Amino acid sequence: MLTLTTEIIKITRVGKTTAAQLKRLGIETVQDLLFYFPFRYDDFSKLTPINKLQPGTRANIVGQIELIQNKRSPRKRMYITEALVNDGTETIKIIWFNQPFIARNLRVGDKVSLAGKVDGGYGEYIMKSPIYEKVLYPIPPLPALSDGVKIRGGNERDGYHTQGLVPNYHLTANLTQKQIRFLIKQIIGLANKVVDWLPSEVKSNLKILDLAKAITKIHFPKTQNDIKQARKRLAFNEFFLIQLQSQLIKQELKSSKAQIVPFLEQETKKFVDHLPFKLTDAQKKAAWEILRDINKDQPMARLLEGDVGSGKTVVALIAMLNAALNKKQSVLMAPTEILANQHFESVCQMLADFDARIGLLTRSARRINTPKNAKERQRTPSKDISKKKMVEMIRNSEVDIIIGTHALIQEDVEFKNLVLAIIDEQHRFGVEQRKMLAEKSEYNKNQKSIRQLADKNQKFFMPHLLSMTATPIPRSLAMALYGDLDISIIDEMPIGRKKIATHIVPENKRNDAYKFIREQIKQGRQVFVICPLIDFSDKLGVKFVKEEFKKLDEQVFPDLKIGFLHGRIKSKEKERIMQDFLDNKIKILVSTSIVEVGVDVVNATIIMIECADRFGLAQLHQFRGRVGRSDHQSYCFLFSDNESDKSIKRLQALVNCNDGFALAKMDLKFRGPGQVYGTAQKGFPELKIATLFDYQLMKQARDEAVKLVNKDASLASWPELEKKLVLLDTVSYLTG
Ligand code: ADP
Ligand code: MG
Repeated sequence: MLTLTTEIIKITRVGKTTAAQLKRLGIETVQDLLFYFPFRYDDFSKLTPINKLQPGTRANIVGQIELIQNKRSPRKRMYITEALVNDGTETIKIIWFNQPFIARNLRVGDKVSLAGKVDGGYGEYIMKSPIYEKVLYPIPPLPALSDGVKIRGGNERDGYHTQGLVPNYHLTANLTQKQIRFLIKQIIGLANKVVDWLPSEVKSNLKILDLAKAITKIHFPKTQNDIKQARKRLAFNEFFLIQLQSQLIKQELKSSKAQIVPFLEQETKKFVDHLPFKLTDAQKKAAWEILRDINKDQPMARLLEGDVGSGKTVVALIAMLNAALNKKQSVLMAPTEILANQHFESVCQMLADFDARIGLLTRSARRINTPKNAKERQRTPSKDISKKKMVEMIRNSEVDIIIGTHALIQEDVEFKNLVLAIIDEQHRFGVEQRKMLAEKSEYNKNQKSIRQLADKNQKFFMPHLLSMTATPIPRSLAMALYGDLDISIIDEMPIGRKKIATHIVPENKRNDAYKFIREQIKQGRQVFVICPLIDFSDKLGVKFVKEEFKKLDEQVFPDLKIGFLHGRIKSKEKERIMQDFLDNKIKILVSTSIVEVGVDVVNATIIMIECADRFGLAQLHQFRGRVGRSDHQSYCFLFSDNESDKSIKRLQALVNCNDGFALAKMDLKFRGPGQVYGTAQKGFPELKIATLFDYQLMKQARDEAVKLVNKDASLASWPELEKKLVLLDTVSYLTG
């Protein structure tokens, strides 16, 4: 008996090989298969008599095979299968290439349904490589078959490859559309077993389909309206869960409290005046929004967005400085140790003449930096201290600004008076991090967790939260992803930045590019080489990176030190390689997209991107942001394995445009957010069906979520929904 959890290998016609291929698509159980949705449909809902076919159009015909034979093309050593098909009005020639087995499957006299593009002219029509299906049900009598007659009924079991609205799925090598359709057809009945977790009041408010119906219709729609309705329900699912999650968080924040950080105008002004540069207006505005938020007793929940190099750190520092001078603690959490080190160094420098004690805490480093003589703008050199000492100093509030990595919440740290948490470049909002920090805070000492408190109507102290990202997420997307979050955007670059010269390099100029690189390295510069993930089986990019490394290391630059990074390298080793690159021991670093976030390698001036067309524009823009951090002119070289006009045009946008937001918007038009921003490694929820242009639906989802939470924030009245939320680990972008 098949159930939703039955392994895919147990269903008919799935052997080991197919199961392995399906697994690459993320399909391991019957349920996974049900939720593997088509991305488009061929409309073969109308049958055309052969004598009415129009060259250049896609059409569906049904007829009888009069002749079928295999030939060998002499020149190309290719099999050609030729057939003649007649439907009573006319005969058409059909050709398939390199599929000799078709001549065994189909025989003279068989009735076939064919779907594909019609070619030809001068009265002779041809269909090349159409999809075919043997017809086992009676064909409607032809005289009755005028142009555009709809096929009704037929036999439920047949015709789903070539007739009606035919679903198309994203596939991996060797799987075929027919296979997937066949498999889904077998199990589609089990859609009824999927639990519909959406409360019925929501369903009736919105008049949307039951889940089972939506699943059935998304795979095998009868009409365009079926597709529309099914998509609506499934897209609503995605938006609703996101919005519900964020409403619950909001509710939780409402029942908690934050410490007020009073705004110190004089000191803030002094800090800003002493910076070696002038803040941009956008920076000032963002800083002001943050200072206003932390001056309240409600916890801040703000996202600070700004392009790479737009100067987010200094904005965050203004807030941390205000906390420090009020004798309260703040943390700045970076995604890697190297980045934490860099933040530590630059914060110590910028706070040279302020009375703030700064600490660094990562797995491998504990450093402390204290003011010596603020008047002379001097600080003592940073000191290495033991972990024990650091933990003790944090607990006693002898450090004001604590910079670190995840170690901050994982290790044995307790805070005396933590008021502000800043999460840098995590692409997740950091709500969970905030909670964990709050629970390590002395304010909440006698409380075990916020959940316990919610019942007792007591207040739990939360640090204010600021999440910083260089990913240019348009407001509409941010709302879809994070619900009602406050956002500050730095949409202006400091003046005087050199533009990064971006070039699309055709394959025949590759050697010139290498020559140029060699020249730059001679002058002391360094180079990034970025490789994409090329196929499903190489999720971590190991294959491509290794091949590219080998090529550069052995053939192109045998005399230079080259390093590589990919997803399978352990994080400690990663940090070591990055450090070598920072220290200019490695001249060229070959890597997957993992270098995308944050490290400042001032000396790197060239970034070479292989198969650039496989990345989203926003992502390419972020790669490009790895260079251009010094006075030296920087370069971005784009190589593409797809030289179609469309692809070149898209890359051309990157050459011409320097604005991350504009690029993201351009790309969002063509591709989903997952593709534009990259999904897996960055914690974006996967919107499979919903798109950012479903504004209306997004709003409805929010309204419904608000209604439910207001009715009963415990969700006790909707147990299935509660279960769904708990299970929903894709929403971890919200909760860490
Ligand atoms: P990001 O937003 O990518 O985190 P950073 O905060 O690291 O950017 O800033 C990048 C560099 O720009 C730093 O060296 C910083 O000191 C400098 N910077 C920040 N703001 C300005 C400004 N208004 N004018 C000039 N340089 C600035
Ligand atoms: Mg930064």
